[in-house]
Amino acid sequence: MNGPMLKVEKLVKHYPLGGGFFDRNPLVVRAVEGVSFSVDAGETLCIVGESGCGKSTIARLLMRLVDPTEGRVLLQGTDIAGLKNDGLRNCRRRMQMVFQDPYSSLNPRLTAGQIITEPVGNFERLGRKKREALAADLLRKVGLAPEIMHRLPSELSGGQRQRLGIARALSLKPSIIIADEAVSALDVSVQAQILNLLMDLQDELGISFVFISHDLGVVEHIGHRVAVMYLGRIVELATREALFANPVHPYTEALLAAAPLPDPTQARLAVPIEGEVPSPVNPPKGCAFHPRCSLAEERCRIEVPALTEMADGRSVACHVRAPAEYPAGQPSE
Ligand code: SF4
Repeated sequence: MNGPMLKVEKLVKHYPLGGGFFDRNPLVVRAVEGVSFSVDAGETLCIVGESGCGKSTIARLLMRLVDPTEGRVLLQGTDIAGLKNDGLRNCRRRMQMVFQDPYSSLNPRLTAGQIITEPVGNFERLGRKKREALAADLLRKVGLAPEIMHRLPSELSGGQRQRLGIARALSLKPSIIIADEAVSALDVSVQAQILNLLMDLQDELGISFVFISHDLGVVEHIGHRVAVMYLGRIVELATREALFANPVHPYTEALLAAAPLPDPTQARLAVPIEGEVPSPVNPPKGCAFHPRCSLAEERCRIEVPALTEMADGRSVACHVRAPAEYPAGQPSE
């Protein structure tokens, strides 16, 4: 395959908030503001940020559960916005989703076997024997005993239900899986098992992942590259190693400083972040992070910083740490 598996170009999503027909300035939720990234075959891109940063809206845009206000989503070079009927069905076959809460995303009246084989049944007719063989195969793949295919979701544990959700996503042999907070409802020990399962499946099947999470521990475990979002924009995009060893954007630095450390004797990197994420209805002018940033200058209050590629290949949107006039430069401090 030439080119990336998934390419997102200048994606924007605004949600109008009511307002009358004659209202000249209707309120708008600016959920996503010009986001671009790509994901290669077999790669995991993590999107991380606090609640309300727009990361879940990106998941919905990628799956075309909502249409973008502007921008494009290209799946293996095809713009998914132009797809209808069979084209859209085929696209959804190649791109599957795993949700945060497996219980509410699984039909409680269907057995595990029916849940797994339902998506395939939308594309081809399968006899009972073939359905059961497929269900058994997929259950084994996600580390579950085939015998549970006759059980209902309510008879399974949270970890088993999430494995079932993954088996269902795998049933159509997708090229890419969008996982939205896919382990955040699980206990820490079960989280690690599910993350390891996803990594094993990626090694075996070459699947790409867009893994959306607020949890830096999860992101550090599973990501090849990490995009940090703040109020609808990517503020830093780097390899996992570079991001965790040397965060450049002040928001990334603050997020890492606020995250629990695996080793409590380790020193913190910087002052933890203070204050709340501002409202996406009325975001601050200039750099949206400026009310919370200790490095903010006059320019930060006026101009939105561009996402600028640095010498080590990462991209950062910050007037101070990655000034756009020195696109290949080092942090200016
Ligand atoms: Fe802070 Fe300014 Fe950089 Fe924004 S652009 S993160 S306010 S220094």
